[in-house]
Amino acid sequence: MKPLAILGGTFDPVHIGHLCVAWEASELLDAEVQLVPASVPPHRPPPIASVEQRVAMLRVALAGQDRLGLDLRELERAGPSYTVDTLAELRAEYGARPLVLLMGADAFAGLTSWHRWPELFDLAHVGVLSRPGDPPAWPEALRAAVDGRRVETVDALHTRSAGSVVLLDVTPLAISATRIRDLLAGGRLPRYLLPDGLFGEPELLAAYRSSRRG
Ligand code: ATP
Repeated sequence: MKPLAILGGTFDPVHIGHLCVAWEASELLDAEVQLVPASVPPHRPPPIASVEQRVAMLRVALAGQDRLGLDLRELERAGPSYTVDTLAELRAEYGARPLVLLMGADAFAGLTSWHRWPELFDLAHVGVLSRPGDPPAWPEALRAAVDGRRVETVDALHTRSAGSVVLLDVTPLAISATRIRDLLAGGRLPRYLLPDGLFGEPELLAAYRSSRRG
């Protein structure tokens, strides 16, 4: 059975970087990939777009293709979105199917601040997506956790349910939602960094435009 991979995030807003790396990960892993928007990101300030607006943007962005899907379970759950809870639910639903947690290299370097982070490796493999720039240093606890789990090819992600870490060399795209929010707040329209048709609602564009930069 093909692995099921998830890419969690705030998606405030979803951008071409998310879509491109998710697509490439799906190809590299031969996996089904689901984007999983978080409701209350435990480590971050609240998003500018509402939950409904972030879901609407994701639906627009994902229209017309069937490689990338959308999983809204974190928005339907009360309280903060902890990835460990999401993976535990998926494990209960999918039995021994290989699960892969996809994360950008920046997010992976901060993994030790995540809720019950060591358990993530019991529940899923981790696919670390390269991002432009020097790869961030891993704290000692993370290095120790990755030691012995690291695999160079994706084969192990098909034969075992969880527990391996693979670095996925995706096309480097220096696009972040922070950069896009900054451009919008500065009166620019980052037309080709975003999927077509995200700002159907003028109120949403106005909210990004009036947001503080940074
Ligand atoms: P922000 O700038 O608000 O932090 P972001 O662009 O990093 O947002 P998130 O919604 O936080 O987007 O990201 C979800 C996941 O996608 C994270 O694991 C992040 O590292 C990864 N990601 C986002 N953009 C890229 C990119 N251009 N290349 C590789 N991974 C990315």
